[in-house]
Amino acid sequence: MNYTRRTWLTAAGAVGFSAALTHCGGSDPLAPTAADPASSGLADAQRSRTSAPKPVSNTTGRVVVVGGGMAGLAAAKYLRLWGGTGVQVTLVERNPSYTSNILSNLVLTGQRTLSSLVYSYATVKQNYGVDIRQGTVVGIDPIRRRVTLADNSTLDYDRLIVAPGVVFDVLPGLESDAARSKVVHAWQAGPETATLRNQLLAMPTGGTFVMTIPKSPYRCPPGPYERACVVADWLKRNKPGSKVIVLDANGDIQAERHTFDTAFRGLFAGVVEYVPNAGVISIDAAQTRISVNSQMGTVVGDVVNAIPPQRAGKIVLDNFLANSADGRWAGVNAATFESTAAAGVHVIGDSCSAGIPKAGHIGNQEGKTAADAILRAFRGLAPDTDLVVNSACFSPITASTASWLTAVYQYDTTAGGYKIVGTAPSEATSPTADNYSEMNKWFSTLMGETFA
Ligand SMILES: Cc1cc2nc3c(=O)[nH]c(=O)nc-3n(C[C@H](O)[C@H](O)[C@H](O)COP(=O)(O)OP(=O)(O)OC[C@H]3O[C@@H](n4cnc5c(N)ncnc54)[C@H](O)[C@@H]3O)c2cc1C
Repeated sequence: MNYTRRTWLTAAGAVGFSAALTHCGGSDPLAPTAADPASSGLADAQRSRTSAPKPVSNTTGRVVVVGGGMAGLAAAKYLRLWGGTGVQVTLVERNPSYTSNILSNLVLTGQRTLSSLVYSYATVKQNYGVDIRQGTVVGIDPIRRRVTLADNSTLDYDRLIVAPGVVFDVLPGLESDAARSKVVHAWQAGPETATLRNQLLAMPTGGTFVMTIPKSPYRCPPGPYERACVVADWLKRNKPGSKVIVLDANGDIQAERHTFDTAFRGLFAGVVEYVPNAGVISIDAAQTRISVNSQMGTVVGDVVNAIPPQRAGKIVLDNFLANSADGRWAGVNAATFESTAAAGVHVIGDSCSAGIPKAGHIGNQEGKTAADAILRAFRGLAPDTDLVVNSACFSPITASTASWLTAVYQYDTTAGGYKIVGTAPSEATSPTADNYSEMNKWFSTLMGETFA
């Protein structure tokens, strides 16, 4: 089968949205190579989308979900969709609405507004009967199976899903509120995104935008390079002669290497300076100056955008669920997303360490995988281990072109983790206007599928 952009989008949609419940149906998805994404498990998964579980009327149980982001809300919705009305689902979210990080780099360049990225919880509440509570969960008691909220109220559960996203380390020099209000990361869409946009607008023509990238793993592997591209493109058109200096703590570009390397050396030659192995030592916010552990020593910018190292959400850290080797992420059974530290607690989304990327598209599928595992447990069934998930990401490169990246992962029962299908993720050969329009369709489908 010849691979085309459109078949990929359809297949990615099918995998993403039938999600993790895809059985491989007798074919051997590990056999093909990633050079042909349509034959690397995507098509198999698409054919098997009907295998998603049907609601079973006698399923009963109480599930509390902490965090209504890409992973948590998908889990809550599918618990009700597949579990039926006997499954009580309460979702606790600290904010009244959700602001998408995905496409938030386009707010910096004025192509999107922040308000266009805001999603309401009303539809999932209305259509699926998820009980949405606004509040912050501050404690988990896995023995009594109870969570405590900041207002001291409690919720009992049979199974708990924890999906709080990430928290950000404080970089040396940014300990004060004043310093952090001047040097923002904008890696959580919201007020910092607006601040960074205003800083760009105020930047002098011929000025310098300096950004830092933390060591992997971090949220959205291609995201920082995408940001460098869209900012460079905007500066080229609006503030000619300006530069973007990318200080990367990693030794190389972490995702879509072909796309970003080609863009940095070609389209943005003389605009983007990419510096690998440049970890932050300290930042002087008042002087917008960064010291890095590379030959560059010290770099001064007109705008400094420092993306700090990340770790699991506070509720995970405070409740002894962050048991990965570096203590930053929650270890989970990759087939069920049940914590390896606490029985009955499932950690999904960016907070967990499951050997797959930290991204919204895949977080949606982790939500569905955990929902299915919990429903099977309520029915006295063993978890499904015949699992395929896919990650898909579109990256805007200029104001009118985009690129894409996709990878398919299959659960490996022997190793107990996910194995990439083929040899490597696939990426677009070049950024195009067609990809840009497909990106907008992919985004509205993903967000509609999660929030509606
Ligand atoms: C610039 C940028 C671009 C990106 N682009 C893409 C992309 O193209 N494709 C892609 O797939 N991904 C992309 N991502 C990554 C994606 O946004 C994240 O991976 C995804 O949002 C993670 O989902 P999550 O549910 O784990 O966390 P989140 O979406 O952050 O949701 C966590 C939720 O939990 C809530 N919460 C936290 N703690 C508590 C508590 N104690 N009590 C109650 N509520 C709590 C928070 O308020 C939040 O609503 C991008 C990220 C960035 C920053």
